[in-house]
Amino acid sequence: MRGRGFRSVLVTLVAGSLALAGVAVSADSAAPVGPPTSTGTGGAAATVERLATQAAIATLRKGGNAIDATVTAAAVLGVTEPFSCGVGGGGFMVVYQAPLRPRGRPHVFTLDSRERAPAAMRPDSFMEGGRPLVFNDARYSGLSVGVPGTVRGWSEALRRYGSKRVTLAQALAPAIAIARSGFEVDQTFFDQISDNRDYFDDVPASAALYLDADGTPRDVGTTFRNPELAQTYELIARGGANAFYTGDLANAIVQTVTAPSIAPSANHRWRPGVMAASDLAAYVAPQRAPTRVRYRGADVFGMGPPSSGGSTVGEALNILEGYTLSGMTREAALHLYLEASRYSFADRGAYLGDPDFVKVPLRGLLSKGFAQTRRALIGERAVPGSVPPGDPAPFSGGVTANGEASITSTRAGTTTHLTVSDKQGNVATYTFTIESTGGSGLVVPGRGFLLNNELTDFNFDSVTHPNRVEGNKRPRSSMAPTIVLRGGKPLLALGSPGGSTIITTVLQILVDRLDLGTPLPQALANPRATQRNGRTTTAEPAFIASPEALALTGRGHAFVSTPEVGAATGMEFLGGGRVVVAAEPARRGGGSALVVKP
Ligand code: GLU
Repeated sequence: MRGRGFRSVLVTLVAGSLALAGVAVSADSAAPVGPPTSTGTGGAAATVERLATQAAIATLRKGGNAIDATVTAAAVLGVTEPFSCGVGGGGFMVVYQAPLRPRGRPHVFTLDSRERAPAAMRPDSFMEGGRPLVFNDARYSGLSVGVPGTVRGWSEALRRYGSKRVTLAQALAPAIAIARSGFEVDQTFFDQISDNRDYFDDVPASAALYLDADGTPRDVGTTFRNPELAQTYELIARGGANAFYTGDLANAIVQTVTAPSIAPSANHRWRPGVMAASDLAAYVAPQRAPTRVRYRGADVFGMGPPSSGGSTVGEALNILEGYTLSGMTREAALHLYLEASRYSFADRGAYLGDPDFVKVPLRGLLSKGFAQTRRALIGERAVPGSVPPGDPAPFSGGVTANGEASITSTRAGTTTHLTVSDKQGNVATYTFTIESTGGSGLVVPGRGFLLNNELTDFNFDSVTHPNRVEGNKRPRSSMAPTIVLRGGKPLLALGSPGGSTIITTVLQILVDRLDLGTPLPQALANPRATQRNGRTTTAEPAFIASPEALALTGRGHAFVSTPEVGAATGMEFLGGGRVVVAAEPARRGGGSALVVKP
C-alpha cells in the first residue's frame, strides 16, 4: 500500500511493464488506488496494494488459476512491499481445490513455507551470560535469520496446485518488470525506511539500497528501482527454486548471515548467525493437513502447527459456539470474543510449537470438550489479568504435552496477506512475511532483498518451552490464512498481517460476519480490539471511542490504544460464481480488491 499521491503515474508505468511482460492489463488500471471492495464473477483478488492485485487479475484473465495468480501477486509484493515480505522470508498458504467432477470431493490443503532455524542453532543461541538478548539485539543480527521458505513455497504451490499454464518464470515476470521500471516512493515506504535507518546505515548493502548518499531515506516522490532484485528473480526464473537454495545466491545468503558486512562506523553490534549452505539445500516446504473446526454449521479450515493461527482461532470459535452471540447486544458478544481470545491465547502460549519437534496436543486444543472447560471459566466480567493454560490432555486421545505458560512472542508486526479465487472455484489465501518491518535489516549484497528475522518468533528466552530455539526447527507463527466452507463449498476466505494480532483479527472478522451478520467488507473495516491473555486489551482509537468500549470498560476491560491492528483481505462467495472481495478501506492507506468480471 503506497500513499495516495503517486499511483496514477505508477500505474501507467506499470501497465506498460505488465504489457511488456506479456500480461494483459485491465482497462480499469487508470484508477490510482483501491477499490477496497468489488463484486463480480470470473475470479477475484485482494491484496494490500493495487499493482499486486492487478497482476493477480491479469494472470486470471490469461487463464491462470487462483494459485498461479497468488504467486504472481506475491512476487509483485516482494518488490513493492519489501519491508513486509519477500524472497528473504516465509509464509503459509491455505488452498481450496474445487472438485474436478460435479460431485467430487473438495480438498483443502495447506503449504508450509515457514523459515527454518539453521541446524547449528541451540536453545540458548539468543542468550548471553545466561540472559536472553533484548529484542533489537536479537533481531538486527545474522542470528535471527531463518532459512527463507518463500521461493520453495512459490515453486511448490505452482507444482502442486497451479494450472500448469503459468510457469514460475511467467509468475515472476510482472514483478521483474516493476523492479526494473521502478515505482514512486511514498510516505509509507519512506517511514518504513526511517524506522530502520539507525540500523540500515550500519550495513552498506542495506544503506545502498534504501538510503540516499546523505544517509536519509529515499525521498518521497522519487522513483525507486531495484534492478538487483530483478536479477535475483531472473535467476530464479531461469533456474527454478534450486537457483535460490544452491549455488551463488545460496552462498551469498550464507555469507550475509554468518559474516555480515558491517560499516566501521556502525553504532550497533551485529551478531553473526550460524547458517550453512547445507541448511538452504535441505529446505523443504511441506504440505500439511489444515486445522478444521465446525462452527455454526460451517467448516473453518486454518493453518496448523507450526502456526498457532488455525488452532487458536479454532479453539476460540469452539468456546464461542456455546453462546448465541447473534441474539446478544454487540457489547455482550464482544465481551465473549475478548474473553475467548484470552483463554485460547493462554493455551497457544503454552503448547504450540513445531510439530516435527514437540507434541502439540492439537486434537485436544480443537475439541469441543476442551472448549467447554475453558468456556466454563468465562464470567460476566473480564478477568483482570492473564489466565493460566488449561489441560487439553484428556481430550487429546492420550497425547500429553509439556506446556509452559508464556508471555513472550505476542508482539504485533507487519507482513502481508492475499486472497485470490478463480472461475473454476479454486481459492488461495496466503500470508507471507519477513517478520518485523525491515526484517533483520540485512540486505544480501548485490541481490536486492532483505533477510527475515523470523527466528525471534521462537521463545528465545527459554531453553525448555515447546517453542524454544532448536536446529532445523520452525518458529511458532500466528499467521492464520483461513477458508470457511459451508456444505462443502467456499463461503469465506480471509487473513491478515499483524503478528500475534493476526489471530484476533481473523476471529473478530469471523464473529462479525458469521454471528453478528455484518457484511464482509464492513467486518473488515470495523474497529478492532485484540486481547492476547494480558491485563489490557489493545484497541484502535475508533474502537475505544465506541459505545461498546464504554460498556466493556464497565465489565472490567481495560483498553490501550494503538493506531492500527492488521490489514486484512478476504472474500465471500455469494453463489453462482459471484464473489464480494474486500481489502481495507483505510488501514495502511487502503488496499485493492478487484474481480475479473465486475
Ligand atoms: N512473524 C509473525 C508470525 O509468523 C508474522 C509477522 C508479523 O505479522 O508480525 O506470526
